[in-house]
Amino acid sequence: MGYRTIKTTPEAEYIKKQEILTLKKKALEIKKQQDEAEKKRLKELHYMHCPKCGEKMDEIELNGIKIDKCFSCNGTFFDDGELEELIDASKDSFMKSFFSFFK
Ligand SMILES: [Zn+2]
Repeated sequence: MGYRTIKTTPEAEYIKKQEILTLKKKALEIKKQQDEAEKKRLKELHYMHCPKCGEKMDEIELNGIKIDKCFSCNGTFFDDGELEELIDASKDSFMKSFFSFFK
C-alpha cells in the first residue's frame, strides 16, 4: 500500500476553500445556537431568583409599582426605573407606608 499523490488543480483548491468556508459558517451557526440556548438556560435558571440567596422571588405590586421580593432573605429588588417611580411616589408619604409594609 503506497500513498497516492493528489494533484491539486485550481478548481479543486476552490472547492476545498468553499468547503472550509461552509464548515466555518456551520460551526459559527452552531455556536450561535449554543450561545442562545445557554442564554435561555441561564435566564430560566436565574429568572425571578434572588441575587442574594438564590431563592425564588415573588413579584408584588404596591401602588402600581412592581417589585421583586425575596421572602427568604427579605431582599427587595426593583426593575429599571421602578426605584425612581417609588421616590416620586414618596412625596405623598408613600415611602412610609411602603417600608411599614415589610415590618
Ligand atoms: Zn433572597
